[in-house]
Amino acid sequence: MRGGAALRRELTKLLDAERVLCPVPPDSPYNADAAGPWRGLRGAADAVVMPDGAEEVAAVMALCVKQGLPLVPRGGGSGVSGGACPVSGGVVCSMERMKAVLELEPGLWRMRAQAGLSTADVRRLAQESGLLFPPDPGAAEQSQIGGNVATDAGGPHAFKYGSTRHWVTGVEAVLPPGEIVRFGGACRKDVAAYDLRGLLIGSEGTLGVVTAVDLRLIPRPPTALGLVAFLPDLERGCEAVLGVLGCGVVCSALELIDGAALAEVASAYPGAVPRQAGFALLAEVDGGEEETRSARAELESALFAEALQLDRHDELEALWRWREGVSGAVAAVRGGKVSEDVVVPPERLLELLSGFAAGAAENGLQCCAFGHAGDGNIHATVMLDPRDAASMAAAEASTQALFELASALGGSISGEHGLGWVKREALALQCPPAVLDLQRRVKAAFDPTGVMNPGKKIP
Ligand SMILES: Cc1cc2nc3c(=O)[nH]c(=O)nc-3n(C[C@H](O)[C@H](O)[C@H](O)COP(=O)(O)OP(=O)(O)OC[C@H]3O[C@@H](n4cnc5c(N)ncnc54)[C@H](O)[C@@H]3O)c2cc1C
Repeated sequence: MRGGAALRRELTKLLDAERVLCPVPPDSPYNADAAGPWRGLRGAADAVVMPDGAEEVAAVMALCVKQGLPLVPRGGGSGVSGGACPVSGGVVCSMERMKAVLELEPGLWRMRAQAGLSTADVRRLAQESGLLFPPDPGAAEQSQIGGNVATDAGGPHAFKYGSTRHWVTGVEAVLPPGEIVRFGGACRKDVAAYDLRGLLIGSEGTLGVVTAVDLRLIPRPPTALGLVAFLPDLERGCEAVLGVLGCGVVCSALELIDGAALAEVASAYPGAVPRQAGFALLAEVDGGEEETRSARAELESALFAEALQLDRHDELEALWRWREGVSGAVAAVRGGKVSEDVVVPPERLLELLSGFAAGAAENGLQCCAFGHAGDGNIHATVMLDPRDAASMAAAEASTQALFELASALGGSISGEHGLGWVKREALALQCPPAVLDLQRRVKAAFDPTGVMNPGKKIP
């Protein structure tokens, strides 16, 4: 049975008819995620369901297992790797109705929420209680906490605070063939068994459907201050990154924008960008007022010798808005972009960035780079017209070379977006056959019939 009236009949026995979409119009947003506009990737779901709770997810999964239908979990659809795209058809399980806050205990620094709560709401609720949920991926209004857990999302503040996994103490999930389980809970420590919660985090919907999460929060640091250093070129910029790491100040975020990206956003900077600048380094420090001011002064001393200009920012909203605008501004140059999220040890950043630029130039492509310098996690970006097939093919070649370079430098092909559909084949570059085989056996242990988001993450 694939789609059509029979599938609709089966699904409406499990959920109210208005929460079942079957058939699915080809132009439905459920047939694509954020990889769609940039990569032209679209799937064709047989049905979309919008469950209200874990029991309904379990019932739908049981049907998919029985019928051999793919089940594709969908959060906010902001993923850029095609993870939520139903490339093999099947049933899309949209978590959009499961957004209840199950517990919020400010005095105990924790929250329990259903998977469909938006990232922005998690952060807002924490903030209203004087607390902080540090992970801050860029599409926070669109993405959901379950999607963040499924991709182990990062963001600028992952440098000090770690990615989403560092803030998840428990995961409730539905596993094939339709069983509701809970790994961990409100406890902050647990070493009793194999870390199955850890396996679900970052599994991109290939092992089960996350239905609720227990989150750890911290008291909000009272002060955050910014410093922007403009450097003349890539070499001096990468040296400055190492200088900041070596000076011993713990930045809450350390971001870079290379010369080509800087050229596209210089006019929007809240200040004046010096004409000779070929690199910008944004540092944020947070904590108590006095320690934060002294940390920023130490950063200024560390950067003083090489920087063309050092700008203090006490109001960070405009600065971060500027940083968030980089992705859209570079996409606008030619109407589209192919942007990766490779990561290397920070001392290899210069080799990565110069190698990427050389590879793109060899392929006749215009490129730039920006991202999370402290983590060595870079959005290496080719700017192109996605309708131009020759440019898209050249970008594929340049991306392949970038992945090989990142792997050779001891890095990874993905630091935060995951592999989804678009990058799954590249995993073999960083995993030897025995490790790939172990990855496949982990998948088979959770999902022996292979219904969970097939074709994603593992080649
Ligand atoms: C403008 C922009 C900026 C971004 N900035 C960042 C950034 O700074 N850092 C970063 O890490 N990412 C970033 N991203 C990527 C994206 O927002 C993250 O990957 C995010 O975590 C995806 O969440 P989502 O809810 O939209 O998931 P979706 O896109 O819906 O799904 C992503 C993957 O998770 C799976 N999934 C979703 N929900 C569940 C669930 N409940 N259970 C099991 N599996 C599930 C899907 O099957 C899919 O494989 C950005 C994207 C955009 C468009």
